Amino acid sequence: MNGEQVDFQRIKEIPMRRVLARYGVKLRSSGGEMRGQCPLPAHTSRESRNSFSVNLARNIWCCQSMSCTDARAGQLGGTVLDFVAEMEHCSIREAALHLADWFGGLDSVPHIVDQKPRSYSEPNLPLKFQLTNLDYAHSYLDKRGITPATARSLGIGYYSGPGIMQGRVVIPIRNSAHELVAYAGRSIDGQEPKYRFPAGFHKGQELFHLNRARQAGTNTVIIVEGFFDTAKVWQAGNRNVVALMGSSLSETQTRLLEKHFRSAALLLDGDLAGQKATAVITGRLSQAMDVTTIRLPEGKQPDQLASREINEIVSVHVREAHGYGR
Ligand SMILES: [Zn+2]
Repeated sequence: MNGEQVDFQRIKEIPMRRVLARYGVKLRSSGGEMRGQCPLPAHTSRESRNSFSVNLARNIWCCQSMSCTDARAGQLGGTVLDFVAEMEHCSIREAALHLADWFGGLDSVPHIVDQKPRSYSEPNLPLKFQLTNLDYAHSYLDKRGITPATARSLGIGYYSGPGIMQGRVVIPIRNSAHELVAYAGRSIDGQEPKYRFPAGFHKGQELFHLNRARQAGTNTVIIVEGFFDTAKVWQAGNRNVVALMGSSLSETQTRLLEKHFRSAALLLDGDLAGQKATAVITGRLSQAMDVTTIRLPEGKQPDQLASREINEIVSVHVREAHGYGR
């Protein structure tokens, strides 16, 4: 049975106000309308701070910023379905399933009879936009020891434009085919969540920086946990580094590693969680390839080390990393 039975009509009646609330979008209400800054990822204009409006009676939205409309293939606005599809970079059908899931699921939307279990083998779809005007020399990056040259090369920068990534340091995530599939937004002022991802993004489907690590020309890959670990290891001259974006290894990630490398050096955090993860991941990954583990001093993380320290640790384990392999 395929998905023809989704009751779009019924889902379209889920109030836009509730959908916006779920995304933490705050708009001003007046009369039968809500208005304010456009929350869509496609919205890149910095000037238009009042272009997004919702007609509460008709339960539809629109953004009048021309660049935003252009980025969405000329579509001015739409229903809650169009809104969620834009926010999640997904199809209308997937948007319907998300909405059914969030707002009462099958009970209140009885006509979805074929809700497939959320499959993590679903690939992340390429984004239809790119964030621009990033600040690669922002003081936060400097504080983390990332040089502007490294930041520029990895595309990591502070974003001040509108949308859910506003005021965060954004990190572009590409799949192994080099397609941009998400941004991670790191808060820089203690705001929660520490990292913001597009809600439909599956971390387990990607390895951060794999698209470039696979071109490093080595058989060995260095595996770290986070984005800033990657940046520091990269900055130290090791191009063959990827991040799990956490401390667990998915099946898809295992397959990606296996496809592109013959051995791996695990360089996870030196805390207890990192040590536990190292044991688990070594167990799983060693069935697919040779694995060595690099132990850091208790409580240390790769992103806290200087280039010299990183290379001292890494060179012992990963001679191939510097091109001596094969
Ligand atoms: Zn917009």
